[in-house]
Amino acid sequence: MIKHFTCVICPIGCEIDVEENEGKLILLNGNMCARGKEFVIQELKEPIRVLTTTVRIKGAEFNMLPVRTDKPIPKRLIPIIMEDIAKIEVNAPIKMYKVIVKNIAGTRVNIIATRSM
Ligand code: SF4
Repeated sequence: MIKHFTCVICPIGCEIDVEENEGKLILLNGNMCARGKEFVIQELKEPIRVLTTTVRIKGAEFNMLPVRTDKPIPKRLIPIIMEDIAKIEVNAPIKMYKVIVKNIAGTRVNIIATRSM
């Protein structure tokens, strides 16, 4: 069975077709570089993404502070992590790359600010 993936590793966004047999890749078309193959292998095993979102901030020029995970996290955990993030409110000033939440949802991944505010 042929599966289709859009590589999200770089902005080119190669459309990659893969044939898989019992967990083994037997055909791979459309990737312009080796990172596409790594991406597909990871997608088949456990899709992961860097999560970008915002948290509430008090005492700043805007009400929401942009944040992201400092490493990719399993996609299946995004709803749980978003619930945790929705409860957070920080106080200005916050420096870019400051850790806002350590080890979010036990993932060993931190939520960090992506701008100073
Ligand atoms: S396969 Fe390579 S060139 Fe294509 S989107 Fe992925 S990283 Fe970019």
